[in-house]
Amino acid sequence: MEQLNLIPDEPCTRDFSPGDTVSVLTAEGLDRMLDYRAPEGGVDLGAFVEAPLGPRRVMGCVWGPGTGEFPVEKLRAISRVLELEPMRAEMRSFLERAADYTITPLTAMLRLATRVPALAAPPSARPVLRLTDVQPDRMTDARSRVLAVFEEYGNLGFAPGELAHLAGTSSSVIRGLETQGVIVREDAPRDAPYPVLDPAVGTKELSKGQREAADILRARVASGEYSTTLLKGVTGSGKTEVYLEAVAEALEQGRQALVLLPEIALSVEFLDRVEARFGARPAEWHSGVTQTARRRAWHAVASGDARLVVGARSALFLPYKNLGLIIVDEEHDGSYKQEDGARYHARDMAVLRASIEKATVVLASATPALETWANAEAGKYNRLVLPERYGVAELPNMEAIDLRLDQPEPGRWISGALETAVNARVGSGEQSLLFLNRRGYAPLTICRACGHQVGCPNCDARMVEHRFRKRLVCHQCGTTEPIPTVCPSCKTEGKMNAIGPGVERIAEEAETLWPDARIAILSSDLAESHQALKARIDLIAQGEADIIIGTQLVAKGHNFPLLTLVGVIDADLGLQGGDLRAAEKTFQLVRQVAGRAGRHEHPGQALIQTHQPEHPAIQAILSGDDEGFWRAEAEMRRMVGMPPYGRLAGVILTGPDEPRTWEVARELARNGGILHEVGADLFGPAPAPVARVRGRHRVRFLVKAAKGVVLQPALRKWVASVKYPANVRITLDIDPQSFY
Ligand code: ADP
Ligand code: ZN
Repeated sequence: MEQLNLIPDEPCTRDFSPGDTVSVLTAEGLDRMLDYRAPEGGVDLGAFVEAPLGPRRVMGCVWGPGTGEFPVEKLRAISRVLELEPMRAEMRSFLERAADYTITPLTAMLRLATRVPALAAPPSARPVLRLTDVQPDRMTDARSRVLAVFEEYGNLGFAPGELAHLAGTSSSVIRGLETQGVIVREDAPRDAPYPVLDPAVGTKELSKGQREAADILRARVASGEYSTTLLKGVTGSGKTEVYLEAVAEALEQGRQALVLLPEIALSVEFLDRVEARFGARPAEWHSGVTQTARRRAWHAVASGDARLVVGARSALFLPYKNLGLIIVDEEHDGSYKQEDGARYHARDMAVLRASIEKATVVLASATPALETWANAEAGKYNRLVLPERYGVAELPNMEAIDLRLDQPEPGRWISGALETAVNARVGSGEQSLLFLNRRGYAPLTICRACGHQVGCPNCDARMVEHRFRKRLVCHQCGTTEPIPTVCPSCKTEGKMNAIGPGVERIAEEAETLWPDARIAILSSDLAESHQALKARIDLIAQGEADIIIGTQLVAKGHNFPLLTLVGVIDADLGLQGGDLRAAEKTFQLVRQVAGRAGRHEHPGQALIQTHQPEHPAIQAILSGDDEGFWRAEAEMRRMVGMPPYGRLAGVILTGPDEPRTWEVARELARNGGILHEVGADLFGPAPAPVARVRGRHRVRFLVKAAKGVVLQPALRKWVASVKYPANVRITLDIDPQSFY
């Protein structure tokens, strides 16, 4: 169906007939709608189309009747209507409201919603490469990398460019293998349908508490009305089992369900659980999914064929046909906030989307975000609590190790008490986890002769030593350089010194303390790929290591059945930054990591190294009095009018030229009256804490207002009140999570 060629004298049943004008939202270029004439055969509202734009043809979506600003005879016609399900009214409304709230151009929202390769191409137009049984005449490094891609992802059929990209080879290597018949080029098959999920397959006997919670959630899903529920329960209390019941209900109702997980937690383990419960695997949507699988998922979600999607935050922007349920697991997790491009918080957008679709939202966490806790307190969200761990598993015994009294020698970070606790486990088949939320070997390299600190050439940031990669790495921009032996400043040799620990350095210390133990580091930068990381975590969970040394990667959603000891190397780390959410984040992270210990029959122990055991966050972690902690935090935020009891917007100006960037900032400051009019305060301009990234200078404002103020219209007006030189960019961040 290239073009909709209806028989001429049949009445047009489309929303717009030929000759009507329509406005089209394109996914690129201008941030406004463009008027076109409807094509021959007419076109529906929401239809995906190709339309001429200058010399090119671009993809777009029919958004409504034409504006009428241009005379019809001057308008060009839509080139063709694409063979895709039109975008539903609910989805259009969602994109509009999400764009409004986050002050993001609607075009950028449409891009989020159509991030699929060759979205409109018919299957036969896309050649894919597949592996045959033929062996290459000789094996080269590049060739073995290509074969490894098939090994890792399966013989899926890759787009040629994607295969080269995944293998890190040139396209000539791919062509060479093709010539030899090792791989063949085929037409892309029609996308295989997803297997049917059966809600009756793997039902489990639920505990009384689980049953009650599951029944309530099922009833909410069945009601077909919008609602949001906080499902709170310690790690291991059986939240996942409970929300899978809500998923079962959605399936029974003939609706679709979405489970959002923090990206890195998209573990094989979770997919296995879905399979055990529903007899088949769900559709996956995250950065580790191949282009072919992405395309298949997008279409199947649109047709309603994919009934359950498990994904990262961007899965919220898929074109569900009938979405009845959204689960946000570990809803407090920082990775739900997208920090570049469209800056949105997936939890908030899930609530928005559900309210439009009349769907149920379940926010699951052991340590909810204060925002969520406050919404539950205020009665905006329902609350369900699972108070106990499932079965015999008990919560770990938590203790602080006061580093002022039990101080490791200089250059060491594992205290005597922690060492003793690990000793008791090495060789017994039980695992220990040493947790430090810092990648690399050392956060700082300093010259002992002149005090010079090695910084990134492009950023106002220190270079972090990564000893495995034998490089210094900038965590802002990714620049790397060799670890210097000569001071770049005073040229003294042999005086460069690593200061402070990262996980690699803790691993080094562990190797000297426990030379016979098997030690594994889990850190996102050490894994070659998503799949490799998953495989590694699985092996470790099965007992491939005695001591695990990990960053926050280990805090997320993985079961380590043999783990009975968690040692937190530096609980004070998160408390230092002076960040609005420092105490909250520390509480969440340390509780979550500690909760990894002793999930099954073995009781667990968590030892928390700190210089300030009396700090309220540390006290709350130890006592488990989380309600008390939330109340105290809430009271503090309320007193200063900070979120969730006030509203914030971050404003970041960046430019390569420092004076020009500041000039714009000062002009914006002078126009601050626009914000004062709605009762908002404007703070700044001030150099951002990281005042230069990738060679661009950064200047920040903070806008603060009372909870009831609708900031966006004033912000928009204020931002539009100045002219921006070509190189100066402004970014708005509504409800900012980071302030760097
Ligand atoms: P949470 O999501 O709260 O961390 P899970 O749902 O993962 O907790 O449950 C923890 C462990 O207990 C899992 O291994 C899970 O399979 C098991 N479990 C929980 N509820 C049940 C149940 N009703 N029957 C059998 N096993 C259960
Ligand atoms: Zn840098």
